[in-house]
Amino acid sequence: MVNVIAEKCKGCTKCVKACPFNAITMEGKLAVIGPSCTSCGACVDVCPFDAIEKTDDATHTVDISAYHDVWVFAEQRDGKLLGVAIELLGEGRKLANDIGCRLCAVLCGENVDHLIDELFAYGADKVYYANKPELKTYNTDAYTKTIYEAIKTYKPEIVLLGATHIGRDLGPCLAVKCGTGLTADCTKLDIDPTDKKLMQTRPAFGGNLMATIVCPRHRPQMATVRPGVMDKPQRDNSRKGEVIALNPVFKDGDIRTKVLEIVKSVTEHVSLTDADVIVSGGRGLGGPEGFELLRELAKKLGGVVGASRAAVDSGWIDHAYQVGQTGTTVKPKLYIACGISGAIQHLAGMQESGYIVAINKNENAPIFEIADYGIVGDLYKVIPAIMEELDKLESSVV
Ligand code: FAD
Ligand code: SF4
Ligand code: SF4
Repeated sequence: MVNVIAEKCKGCTKCVKACPFNAITMEGKLAVIGPSCTSCGACVDVCPFDAIEKTDDATHTVDISAYHDVWVFAEQRDGKLLGVAIELLGEGRKLANDIGCRLCAVLCGENVDHLIDELFAYGADKVYYANKPELKTYNTDAYTKTIYEAIKTYKPEIVLLGATHIGRDLGPCLAVKCGTGLTADCTKLDIDPTDKKLMQTRPAFGGNLMATIVCPRHRPQMATVRPGVMDKPQRDNSRKGEVIALNPVFKDGDIRTKVLEIVKSVTEHVSLTDADVIVSGGRGLGGPEGFELLRELAKKLGGVVGASRAAVDSGWIDHAYQVGQTGTTVKPKLYIACGISGAIQHLAGMQESGYIVAINKNENAPIFEIADYGIVGDLYKVIPAIMEELDKLESSVV
């Protein structure tokens, strides 16, 4: 942590120019360090009056007893709540019950009042609602200011966000402003029964280890969770709660970017997280044309196509289809892995699927260790045979 010693500061402004993060402003003749300070220490050496000191972060503590409640960022797009926000409400409910506190949702947008009842129905006890034209579409500055001010005022002890593009942008901005940590891409969250702290588990070292991270001295404890990892709670329309209006005031210069147009790319339509059936292809397909066969099978089963990173890296299919640690985490009812060996980084994204079927010509492929049904054979023979059987089944039903 970096502090200005007021009695020593002469107001020479050298530190203001030296700060690479524009974190220092002058209040009269006194340098003041703002929340965007990263503790890089660049200003400490330039001060000719030794008026800036850097202290060990370990000694910097906040009064953690002042922080209560679990907050979930209720991410919405075009007035529709994202699936991951609902999943986080389910997980947040368990954490709040374990701690013995309330579960709250933070909703930002313009005229998205209809989502409030939905948030209550999925478990929120309270909804903090910021209804402003500036918040209609996501904007880093506007959302950060709104939620940071709410965190400062209401002091939640835990803040959870989806590890979506927006959550991955917003989470770190909030964490820096709050001077706290953030664990990204958690796969498991628990409360330590001894001290009620949040235990945040995520894969580390390329997925070979699971690391559990705690944030003992700073608040809030913040984590992002990938879509599809946690279970959605049951909806209960009889649940009601309290709404607290947030009223951020945006001054000129607060919002540094302007959204001119939103262009939806084709790949955004891939909804791996919502699919009940995924037919995934790997390097064993041998080329991009293999995905045509998988698409045919997926269509017959009412599902979608997925891919391993090897297939994506080979340029056979877009990254939006990638399943795994650096792709999407999925939990369909049925996952069919075709020509995929079963590397740990792939398994990390699909091993929670209901039924796993593996088709691989190598009987020793690791994918068979987690598969419920394994078919040893050439996928170009096995898949047409499966489709033939499905056709027979269909015509016998008709
Ligand atoms: P391979 O391992 O080459 O396996 C191909 C399989 O196809 C083989 O088992 C072979 O027997 C079989 N086969 C070949 N021909 C046929 C045929 N005609 N019929 C049937 N079977 C056949 N990978 C991911 O998938 N997702 C990730 O998110 C991911 N993230 C990663 C992150 C990091 C940090 C690292 C280091 C790696 C990551 N990887 C990820 C890569 C991962 O380690 C593997 O390299 C990758 O999953 C292998 O893809 P694959 O199974 O398609 O290819
Ligand atoms: Fe004050 Fe030192 Fe900054 Fe000059 S460089 S404004 S004396 S803190
Ligand atoms: Fe700026 Fe680094 Fe000094 Fe913080 S420590 S005020 S970021 S120069």
